[in-house]
Amino acid sequence: VNRTPRLHLRATALALVVAASPAAAKERSEVPDKYKWRLSDLYPSEAAWQKAREDITRRIPALAQHRGHLGDSAEALWRGLDAVFAIDASLQRLSVYASSLSDQDTRASAPRGMRQAAEQLAVDFNAASSFVRPEIIALDPSRVRAFVAQEKRLAPYRHFLDDALRWKPHTLGPSEERILAESDALAAAPRSAYGVLKDADLPWPTVKLSTGEEVRLDTAAYNLHRQSRVKEDRDLVFAKFFGALKQFEATMGSTLYAQVQTHVFTKKVRSFGSSLESALFRDNIPPKVYAQLLADVRRSLPTFHRYLALRKRMLGVEVLRYQDLYVPMVQKVDLSFSPEEARAITLEAVAPLGQEYIAELRRGFEGGWTDYLPTTGKRAGAYSTGVYGVHPYQLLNFNGKYDDLSTLAHESGHSMHTFLANAAQPYATADYPIFVAEVASTLNENLLVHHMLARAKDDATRLSLLGSYLDGLRQTLFRQSQFADFERGIHERVEKGETLTGEALTQLYLAQVREYYGHAKGACRVDDVIGIEWAFIPHFYRDFYVYQYATSLIASAAIAKGIREEAQTGGTKRRDAYLAMLRAGGSEYPMDLLKAAGVDMTTSGPFDAAMAEMSSTMDDIERILARTASATGR
Ligand SMILES: [Zn+2]
Repeated sequence: VNRTPRLHLRATALALVVAASPAAAKERSEVPDKYKWRLSDLYPSEAAWQKAREDITRRIPALAQHRGHLGDSAEALWRGLDAVFAIDASLQRLSVYASSLSDQDTRASAPRGMRQAAEQLAVDFNAASSFVRPEIIALDPSRVRAFVAQEKRLAPYRHFLDDALRWKPHTLGPSEERILAESDALAAAPRSAYGVLKDADLPWPTVKLSTGEEVRLDTAAYNLHRQSRVKEDRDLVFAKFFGALKQFEATMGSTLYAQVQTHVFTKKVRSFGSSLESALFRDNIPPKVYAQLLADVRRSLPTFHRYLALRKRMLGVEVLRYQDLYVPMVQKVDLSFSPEEARAITLEAVAPLGQEYIAELRRGFEGGWTDYLPTTGKRAGAYSTGVYGVHPYQLLNFNGKYDDLSTLAHESGHSMHTFLANAAQPYATADYPIFVAEVASTLNENLLVHHMLARAKDDATRLSLLGSYLDGLRQTLFRQSQFADFERGIHERVEKGETLTGEALTQLYLAQVREYYGHAKGACRVDDVIGIEWAFIPHFYRDFYVYQYATSLIASAAIAKGIREEAQTGGTKRRDAYLAMLRAGGSEYPMDLLKAAGVDMTTSGPFDAAMAEMSSTMDDIERILARTASATGR
């Protein structure tokens, strides 16, 4: 068990939203109810929430009666699991209410107190239920299987039990496990030291932009100003920001080295073949998927270099440099939408998913799922979460731009996944794995882009849509894969007994970026200053996490392509397989879920479909450019 409610955050949009002007925000009291989510569906009042909290507080200690008895009989196993999962479900409801209330206005202290109380209960619950997995692992697997066969009420827990038993070969004796649990706190130190240095202690420089504006160049400001249309400003921003990181190259090198050592430690004590294998084992992903991704990406570098050449052409620069990768390729067309329009367009865009999907999403839009508007003190960004037996909740900061429409489509993908899985699954198998979560969201984004292109009335709009879609592919597919490649490389070095220093990391990183971006071939110039970029990426502290951004996008591009193509001839086979995957929630392992939806991530097929989509996007852009050039006589 050991779960806390998961938020599906939209990473790519966060930086932009944080930078948005808070001056535009309204007071929450000024916002009509139709733009707010409905938390009263969870509890009619705060008093009801308090009562639920007291109830959970009473139930947690009672779990102790099951300790040491899970293996007694099929009936005892069911009683124990049922008690644990029932509290987990109550706690989910309690936590989502408290955190949603607190996110509405992060300044308010009462909701913050409720959130902390819910977090404390989750800690108590995790401690009180920590015996469950070790006790199951200690049982003879054939005994557990016999229990499941003989006791019907254990059926919802079949997958949970199977998942727990997978760990048997990687589990030590009770006293060793106790020591390992104690060491968890130590393993958090490198990431925490890195975070403190980067977010608090590091003295970010102040720069003067060409407008005369003075800017303190922290992470958010760097993310914003690296997109500047003024070349001198971009160069200044890159040089100063990376220059600041470079001063701490040695320190950050030692924190990252220590982080990698914690992964290698786990690999050794739990007898895995590599740290990669150890990390992917958690979600039962074969390491082959990782190797396949990196091999596919390297094989497709010519497609990537074609993108770089197109960017160079559209920016009209003689030499494309790494500093030129974030300027929008096309002048953004100023599309704007009301929440109602964004809803209507999203519903039209997901039409290939069928009437039932559309009808449920429409009901959700009208049924208090979504908190649309930015208000004073509201949490930035966007996410989707949900409560079993109630409905999904999604937080937005909708400002009426195309990115906001796209975010609505994205979060609605998560929410519909939650809705369909919750409707079809018992609580124990409703929560879907992270590896498939971003498939449902990016698939809706994909459908949205194609819908918007179909209804676009002029080339400028088309170019803007295609350009931002293409930039998304670069950042999610190639950039994240290059990070994944770097991550694999540094782990392999430490596994061979090498020491990582900041200087060595910079050399390795620079060589790899140059290879990916075709530095030697003149595709993109990568200056020495770029080598320190590894120190900027917090995800390197998350143990082989980033590759999932790439695999999710690949899977969704492949599935969406199939669904769009069959929709033209009235077919529904692929769509139905995909919807069945959403309904399956967490009842199977991620690879099996995706395979049933028609994508086998251990093969190159899905990747090639994504590349075909990237190539055809570039074909479209080149056709429009040729048309515009001949029209203007250039
Ligand atoms: Zn997402």
